[in-house]
Amino acid sequence: MVTYCLQSVSESNYRGEGSLQTAFHRAGEKSGFSSVRAEYVPFKEFKAVWTKRGDAVDLQVTDYMKGADQRILDEFAECMCRRILTKHPRELYTQAMRDWLQSEEFVALNRLTYLKRSRNIAYSSKGSTYDLKESMARLMAQGMVPEISNSYITWTKRPNIQRMGYCSVIMRVVAVSSSLDSDKVPEFVSDYVLYHELLHLNDGLKAMGSHHDSAFRMRERAYPRWREAEAILKRVASKSV
Ligand SMILES: [Zn+2]
Repeated sequence: MVTYCLQSVSESNYRGEGSLQTAFHRAGEKSGFSSVRAEYVPFKEFKAVWTKRGDAVDLQVTDYMKGADQRILDEFAECMCRRILTKHPRELYTQAMRDWLQSEEFVALNRLTYLKRSRNIAYSSKGSTYDLKESMARLMAQGMVPEISNSYITWTKRPNIQRMGYCSVIMRVVAVSSSLDSDKVPEFVSDYVLYHELLHLNDGLKAMGSHHDSAFRMRERAYPRWREAEAILKRVASKSV
């Protein structure tokens, strides 16, 4: 038993990361589970899935946690155990966990991997018709969004029509559907979609279910031509543009 502990300590020092097993073992004991085992899985999104048999739990958790130190892994494991016990917690993560997920270090460790796993992005803000960097500059010049640092803005590779924009708050990635990168679609429409996603980026991690709350909708409607933009988006979505 002692040998095992020494090995796990030296192993975690060598890798420069905390031990996932140690974290979940500790958290599981605290939460009253008989056994909790966890392994890293290269999911594209930041997520965890689990199976619970009686009071034994097996988890597969995002490998984006790999670079976290032991303190953060302990927090993460406790959050997950609480989540397993409470179906709909108001807050999933503790402040320390949220700080980690919104740190520059987290982005530096994981964004490249996330981008490689994202199949439908063009890896470029410059489209055939519009440049999203110019959109962003316009939004800033209009005072619609503040200065935004450390963001990765890209068009999608394929022209989605179901989903016009996407934002990963923790990876600080925004993708806008290339269905809007067309001279048939006015510039202010892709600006509007980018504006919507940048509002999410600025909000950071929010409580579950509050992404599109009424306060968000109010800010969205501060965009001068939102009504026109929404009408055009509907037409693009129904392929009538
Ligand atoms: Zn949204």
